Amino acid sequence: MDPEKAALAAQADYKPQPQRRRISKAIVLAACAFSLWSLSSTDISCVTDLFTSEPVITKARCPQVEGLVPELTNMDKVFESKDFLDLQVARLSGAVQIPSVSFDDLGPVGKDKRWEIFYKFADYLKVTYPRVHAELKLEVVNTHGLLYTWEGSDESLKPTLLMAHQDVVPVPDATVDAWTHPPFSGHFDGQYVWGRGSSDCKNQLTAILTSVEALLEAGFKPNRTVILSSGFDEEISGGEGAGHLAPFLLERYGKDGIAVVVDEGSTFSTVWGKTMALPGVGEKGYTDVHVTVRMPGGHSSIPPDHTSIGVLSELITLIEAHQYPTILDRQSNPYYGLLQCSAAHAPDFPKSLHKLIDTKPSKCGHDKLALEAAKIGGRGIKYLMQVSDSLCFISC
Ligand SMILES: [Zn+2]
Repeated sequence: MDPEKAALAAQADYKPQPQRRRISKAIVLAACAFSLWSLSSTDISCVTDLFTSEPVITKARCPQVEGLVPELTNMDKVFESKDFLDLQVARLSGAVQIPSVSFDDLGPVGKDKRWEIFYKFADYLKVTYPRVHAELKLEVVNTHGLLYTWEGSDESLKPTLLMAHQDVVPVPDATVDAWTHPPFSGHFDGQYVWGRGSSDCKNQLTAILTSVEALLEAGFKPNRTVILSSGFDEEISGGEGAGHLAPFLLERYGKDGIAVVVDEGSTFSTVWGKTMALPGVGEKGYTDVHVTVRMPGGHSSIPPDHTSIGVLSELITLIEAHQYPTILDRQSNPYYGLLQCSAAHAPDFPKSLHKLIDTKPSKCGHDKLALEAAKIGGRGIKYLMQVSDSLCFISC
């Protein structure tokens, strides 16, 4: 058995030391009693996160499977070649040059002419990926939703679903001059392709199609069915694209009928010195709140001391002042899994997080682990664990 496997086996048998746990709890209880005696106003429910043993994070808490290597020769060589880079740059650049914009005020599909650019985009894909279009089944859902099916040989396996949207957000005319390279130029500077969609999400869409095109060219035949699903209004919440594609797929494959869904969002990232594949999760929901302040009218020469603008400003200040707590749900939030895996595998995992990893939020919502993670990771991490605004003061 190699040392790594031996270590894993030993760690799999790890059990907390009951004696040590009892002793440390006794010390904590004594400390709490002292606190209660000396600070009778202290909220004792806020110290529950102390009731944990010393964290021991092992690789057994984040076990890894052996990597799978496709039985295709020369694919690495193909993907690393200059010719392939040029080809993929051209494919992505061409996609960026088609302004497939979804606007907030778009009318119904088929009525609003601004949807018609998606015909051009679909035609571009057809010309750019001839094998995909010759060998996969393409169905069109709600006019511009593209659904490709690559039938696998084993019907008992649930399919893999790969997704990426075709649309991009608009570019306000006033900001066009501020772009280093025009937003629909698809300019390649030797390192990056510039323009709308080059990183959200035509990079992913062309990467998926390029991969399938290359696999077809190499004669690959999947055991498991592969589905490619591409909506066309993700940037305006996806009602016309994913809103039709999702029920279509649900109808065809049933609930939990897909093995894995890979969509935009988190991809690979180097986290504390280790490359991690980050899980894609459902997006947070959101609510738009319209606030109208009504005040008695008057004349600006004799204004009231407090105007509607002042009242609204106070309201906004109150909203900002009453934040939801930062809490990391240990059961349902996948960020906790990332912390555990980082603790087990990442060489630069911070000690301050390591020692809090087994703590739990207190009953009053104080979560030291979440707060420390937010402090280290910034807002991008904080809002994985917190509702990003609050109207709590209205109901409290
Ligand atoms: Zn996107």
